[in-house]
Amino acid sequence: GRELEDLDGRHLIHPHQSGAQSDRFVMVSGEGSLVRDANGVEYLDASGGGNWLAQVGHGRPELAAALTEQAGRLAYFSCFFNFSNDKAVLLAERLAGLAPAGLDRVFFTCGGSEGVESAIKLARLYHHHRGEPDRTWIISRDLAYHGATYGSGTATGFPLMHRGIGPSLPHVARVSPPYPYRAAQMYGDADPTGFLLRELEETIQRIGPGRVAAMIGEPVMGGGGVLVPPPDYWPRVRDLLTSHGILLIADEVVTAFGRTGAWFDSPGRGMDPDIIVTAKGLTSGYAPLGAVLMRADIAAAVAGDGAYFFHGHTYSGHPLSCAAALANLDVLEGEDLVERARTIGGWLREDLASADGLERVGDVRIEGATAGVELVADRATRTPVMAGAVTAALRDRHQVIVRDYGPTIVLSPPLVIGREQVRRTVRALLDVVSRLDE
Ligand code: PMP
Repeated sequence: GRELEDLDGRHLIHPHQSGAQSDRFVMVSGEGSLVRDANGVEYLDASGGGNWLAQVGHGRPELAAALTEQAGRLAYFSCFFNFSNDKAVLLAERLAGLAPAGLDRVFFTCGGSEGVESAIKLARLYHHHRGEPDRTWIISRDLAYHGATYGSGTATGFPLMHRGIGPSLPHVARVSPPYPYRAAQMYGDADPTGFLLRELEETIQRIGPGRVAAMIGEPVMGGGGVLVPPPDYWPRVRDLLTSHGILLIADEVVTAFGRTGAWFDSPGRGMDPDIIVTAKGLTSGYAPLGAVLMRADIAAAVAGDGAYFFHGHTYSGHPLSCAAALANLDVLEGEDLVERARTIGGWLREDLASADGLERVGDVRIEGATAGVELVADRATRTPVMAGAVTAALRDRHQVIVRDYGPTIVLSPPLVIGREQVRRTVRALLDVVSRLDE
């Protein structure tokens, strides 16, 4: 165990590392909601593989068998040029059947960042193809996480993602996120949606309505701290964008495939997107894969007569990844895990109710099988308290893994987590938080 950790320290770079440089945990196996590190310590994974996924749980034999079978038959053939592979075709058809009506054209990537990158290009190409080449601007939001490549990284609203790497992608503007708990502080406004809509309209006018290609947003913001918009937010944003001919891209990398209790989260929020980007839960992490879903008229602009989309990755539509995704969807459907995410949400609500009594808990936000618990110095001032120490204590004292995003502790467990395991997670969390002042 120790040796692997030392080797890791010597050779591996960890993005987003928090805490001491020596804090390294080399995971070696897992089953359901449990994972084991190289020292044999067993952890309860309430984070979804540390990254909002692992929907079907760790160590699923069905997924392992699908990967093995595919590797033995055809591990790789290009999804470029005129080539395709059977698993990519079957998965595209399957996704078209699950997606919101009309979004039945699919472009495969290797993950979320490449999906967002593709969506940005697709939006620009769509307008270009329709004779509006000046529509190049993309609007995103502060506190959004969209990825780490140049375009997706520029759209990401975390200052740290931009520090020290020079000029960003041009023509990306950012607006404020919906953050009901902090609306009064952030916008000083009694009508948060009204404020956000005015700001969006002003931003569009400043750029010029004929120069904006698309707005991108997560239906519920994940990395921002499980930020749930007011119910009127997306319908009003959608209407405003439509009135200016601007596309809407839903980044469902976190939310799709059950996380919030639906196959896709955007329809239930009145978002009605033109393009949806997915990744993570599509394979539950068993292989890298992203899928960008779009309407036929957008696809026609990049894959129809006279159109072109000179874009793609060697591993787009990788047979192993697509085989893993198909097996993953079989398990999600067969075990009703999307519905189960709602059940888990109910358990989280029940167990987290007692967080109400804690001065350090400012806000609790639960959407299906994900919860954000925002820490504050005290409830009156709502001064944010960084949650890293809580995450470390949960891991070291209770062997429970959760993630922290600024002041927010995030639970995003596998959808197979049991009732007792949820109770154990929340009990540990409340124990650590209630002792913060000791
Ligand atoms: N969008 C969202 C909402 C995400 O949470 C992430 C990853 N955390 C991404 C995009 C980027 O996906 P990937 O890391 O697979 O490139």
